[in-house]
Amino acid sequence: MRVGCPTEIKPQEFRVGLTPAAAQELVRAGHEVVVQAGAGTGAGFVDADYTRAGAGIVDTAAEVFETADLVVKVKEPQAVERKQLRAGQALFTYLHLAPDPDQTRDLLDSGVTAIAYETVTDRAGGLPLLAPMSEVAGRLAPQMGAWTLQKANGGRGVLMGGVPGVGPANVVVIGGGVVGTHAARIAAGMGADVTVLDLSLPRLRYLDDMFGQQFRTGYASAARTAEMVLQADMVIGAVLVPGAAAPKLLRRAQLADMKPGAVLVDVAIDQGGCFETSRATTHADPIYEVDGIMHYCVANMPGAVARTSTIALGNATMPFMLALANKGWRQACADDPHLLAGLNTHAGRLTYGAVGKALGLDV
Ligand code: NAD
Repeated sequence: MRVGCPTEIKPQEFRVGLTPAAAQELVRAGHEVVVQAGAGTGAGFVDADYTRAGAGIVDTAAEVFETADLVVKVKEPQAVERKQLRAGQALFTYLHLAPDPDQTRDLLDSGVTAIAYETVTDRAGGLPLLAPMSEVAGRLAPQMGAWTLQKANGGRGVLMGGVPGVGPANVVVIGGGVVGTHAARIAAGMGADVTVLDLSLPRLRYLDDMFGQQFRTGYASAARTAEMVLQADMVIGAVLVPGAAAPKLLRRAQLADMKPGAVLVDVAIDQGGCFETSRATTHADPIYEVDGIMHYCVANMPGAVARTSTIALGNATMPFMLALANKGWRQACADDPHLLAGLNTHAGRLTYGAVGKALGLDV
């Protein structure tokens, strides 16, 4: 099979859909791999890394789309890319079709078989191709929050770990899932005094069993959350209600009672944000202030560490990519219900229930 990887063209996207390591696995399995020149640059891979892995380099995205049986990417295809997709071709990438009727219509019109990273499942009921990006965003959140806490950036001027004789920063993480767990670990590792709040008692039990004294856990009732936020130097919003916009857990009126210069890091901003005053920001202009409280609300946090994110995503996608290449999408999906869960469109038909429901289309 011919597997192709174009350069990402969405603004501020530096990741690439195929690492040299994944290209090598595909070549060793007998497949032909073509990569657009420069596709890996943003993630720190040069074309020679791909040629050493046995891949061919082509000058244009058009050469990838025209000839590849399987196109692998990171972000949803942009309008100009969607025009180049065709029936009989498979696309493996993040799609997020539910809020995107234009993209959905174009994919259906193209006839492409589109398999979405974000709906592939695993045996534990998790989303194995979303988890690596939550891990990255979670670990990055205290790092960006610590930078925002610095005085020159508008923050309170508090050091995460304190120093002998001066106490550490007080960090409250709301939501103890993948993002929250990784955020809490890193914040605790930086020496901060950390509390994780969640509504799920089984999750709080798990965190307590796993991490013991590294950080405290608390039940995220509205009263407890409000009380903890008042004491915080940094609040990390990491909640998710599957299939719904993030609940607003902190109202604007509460900001006036917080410590001046405290920092809100709203990781849930890609689901609308969990603080009333959150609005999506970019890596180029990541922070802003409301009522004396600093906000960091970058919607694509993993893009800041494109190399780590690319390799983490590649590790997770590689077995699925190999199955798609080795068996063809039809047999690979027939053999693996978790990969089948990723199938969103095929030959002009929508094949994913939640997208149909969101867009009012037949499945
Ligand atoms: P997850 O499902 O693993 O965890 C979410 C947790 O939130 C669960 O433990 C759940 O019990 C808890 N929760 C739900 N409602 C709550 C409430 N009202 N109070 C307290 N806890 C509550 O999800 P995740 O993978 O950790 O993702 C968390 C958020 O981060 C999502 O919105 C996701 O889209 C977002 N995210 C953003 C970026 C970014 O770049 N900004 C990157 C990755 C993930």
